[in-house]
Amino acid sequence: MNTRALPPTTWTTGTTEAIKTGTWRAALPAYLKRPAPCQAACPAGGEVARWMEQARAGDWYGAWLTLVENNPFPAVAGRVCHQPCESACNRAQYDGALAICSLERHIGDRALAEGWRYPEAPVGTARVAIVGGGPSGLSAAYQLRRRGYAVTLFEAGNALGGLLRDGIPHYRLPREVLDGEIDRILEQGIDVRLGAVFTTAACFARLAETFDAVYLALGARAPRRLAVLPPDGVRILDGADYLAQVNAGHTPALGRYVAVIGGGSAAMDVARSARRAGHDVRVLSLECEADMPAQREELIEAKTEGVLLVGGVMVSAATQDDEGLRLDCVRVRFHDGKTDVIPGSGFTLEAHAVILAIGQDPRLAPLEGMLEIEAGLIAVDERGATSRAGVFAGGDAASLQRFVTHAIGMGKRAAVEIHRWLEGEPPALPGARPTVPASAINTFYHPRAARIGGGRQAAEHLEQAAAEAARCFSCGQCTYCDNCFDYCPDMAVRRVAAGYEIAADYCKGCGLCVRECPTGSIVLREELR
Ligand SMILES: Cc1cc2nc3c(=O)[nH]c(=O)nc-3n(C[C@H](O)[C@H](O)[C@H](O)COP(=O)(O)OP(=O)(O)OC[C@H]3O[C@@H](n4cnc5c(N)ncnc54)[C@H](O)[C@@H]3O)c2cc1C
Ligand code: SF4
Ligand code: SF4
Repeated sequence: MNTRALPPTTWTTGTTEAIKTGTWRAALPAYLKRPAPCQAACPAGGEVARWMEQARAGDWYGAWLTLVENNPFPAVAGRVCHQPCESACNRAQYDGALAICSLERHIGDRALAEGWRYPEAPVGTARVAIVGGGPSGLSAAYQLRRRGYAVTLFEAGNALGGLLRDGIPHYRLPREVLDGEIDRILEQGIDVRLGAVFTTAACFARLAETFDAVYLALGARAPRRLAVLPPDGVRILDGADYLAQVNAGHTPALGRYVAVIGGGSAAMDVARSARRAGHDVRVLSLECEADMPAQREELIEAKTEGVLLVGGVMVSAATQDDEGLRLDCVRVRFHDGKTDVIPGSGFTLEAHAVILAIGQDPRLAPLEGMLEIEAGLIAVDERGATSRAGVFAGGDAASLQRFVTHAIGMGKRAAVEIHRWLEGEPPALPGARPTVPASAINTFYHPRAARIGGGRQAAEHLEQAAAEAARCFSCGQCTYCDNCFDYCPDMAVRRVAAGYEIAADYCKGCGLCVRECPTGSIVLREELR
C-alpha cells in the first residue's frame, strides 16, 4: 500500500483543543432570547415564562414581583382577562394550554392575603397628570410613580376603578380584590383627586400647560342607541348604567320580563345581573349563539343560570305602553358585518324592560380642536402619543380593543414612552419580534400532564399551582438544564457566568444542542463562508 498517498493521521495524546473542528461547519448555533407566544399575546406584555419558572422553584414572591412589573392587577386580571395568552400557548396542541390565568389569580390572591407590598418608589420632580381612574389610568399612574414621577390622578367619579367598579359585577370581581390592588398602587404615593371632571377644552389645555406630561384614559362611556327603539323610552335602559346601579347596590325594579340586546361580555353581565335580580331574561343578538362575541365560558354560565340566549335575531320595530314594550323581531344571518334578513321569519316579543348592551363610545367633544380625533377615538401612535406634544392617551378612549388588560397594557406603554420623552430619549418602538414556535420545543423532556381545571378558577392549593407551573415549557427561557453542554459531541458548549456560549473554533454545526434544548432557546444559523 502506498502510505504516502494518505492524508496525515490526526491524533493527540493531550487535549483535542488543537483540532479546530469548527472549520468544517456550515451553520452555527446561537442562544437567542425570543419571546414566548404567551408573552407576545398578553396585552400587558406579561413575562409568563419567567414568573412560571420562579413559581416552579417555589419563589412565589419573586413570581409576583415579575408579574407586577407589567401589570399591577394580577388578581383582577386572573378573574376577568380574556386570556389571549392561553390561546397562543405552545402547550395547547400537546396536552392543553397552561392555566396561565388561574395561576395569575392564585399569585395575585396570595399577594393580597399575605400583604405583599411594592418596593419604595424613588422621588423625582417631574409631574405627570392622568385623567381617568380606570385600569388604564391606574396602570399608567403605577408605572410612572415607580419610575419616580410625581403623579396626580384626576377622576370624575367618587371612586377609582372605572368599569372594573361600575361595569364588571361583584360576582365576577369581588370589590375587596379590586380595592386591595388599587390601594397597593396608591400606597406608592399618588395624589388622587376624586370628583374632578374635565369637561371643556380649556380645562384640558390648562392641564397640558401645568404638568410636564399628561395621560388621558377617559374610557368610553357614551351609550350607543338603537334607532328602532323609542328615543324617550322610560323602559329602555343603557347596560352600563344598569350595571352601575346594581353594582352600587341600587338595583332598579324592571318588571318580570327583561330583554337584553347585545351578544358581548357586557350583555352577559347585564343578563346575569338581571337574572340574579329575579327577572326572566332573554338575550337578543344579531350573531347566532356560536358566534356571539362574549367568551364561551360566560355564555355557558349565563345559560346555566337560566338566561335564554336568542341568537340570529334583529329587532326591527318597537312600541311601548304603560305595561311594557312590544318588540317586532326578524331572524337574520349575520356575517362579515352584514345582516341578511330571513324572509317570513318575523315574530313578536313582549318585555317589561329592554337593556341595551351594544357598545359605548368615548365622550371627546371637549378635546376637539386640541387633539386629533379619528373615527371617534383619540388618535394615538404606537407609543400612545397624541397629536399634541406631551399628551398621551390610551384605553377605551383610544382603542377599539375593549379589554381590561389591553387598557392596562396601553397605560404601561404610555408611561414608558412618557418617561423616555421626558428624559429626551428616542421612543422604544418595540416592533413584533418572532416568537418561539412549538416546533422548537423538544417535548421528550416534558412528560404529558393534564392541565389543572380550566377557566378562571384559581389554582386552589399550592401543590396544584406548583404542578401547573411545572408544565410550562419555558419557551425561549433558558433554564440552565445543561442539555446543550452534555450533548455536544465536540465539547463546543461552555458554561459562562450568564449561561452558555458556543466555542466557534470547535462547533461543527451538527445542531444537536438545538434539537436537545427543551425550551427552544437555541437556533441554528446558516453561515456563508
Ligand atoms: C359591563 C362590562 C363588562 C366588561 N367585562 C370585561 C371583562 O370581563 N374583561 C375585559 O377584559 N374587559 C371587560 N370590559 C371592558 C373593560 O372594562 C374596559 O375595556 C376597560 O375598563 C377600559 O379601561 P379604561 O381605563 O380605558 O376606561 P374605564 O374603565 O371606562 O375608566 C375610565 C375612567 O375615566 C373617568 N373619566 C372619564 N372622563 C373623564 C373626565 N372628563 N374627567 C375625569 N375623569 C373622567 C371615568 O369616570 C372612569 O373612571 C367590560 C366592559 C363592560 C362595560
Ligand atoms: S394578563 Fe391576561 S393575557 Fe396576560 S398573562 Fe395574564 S391572563 Fe394572560
Ligand atoms: S408553555 Fe409556558 S412559556 Fe410556552 S407558551 Fe405556554 S405558558 Fe408560555
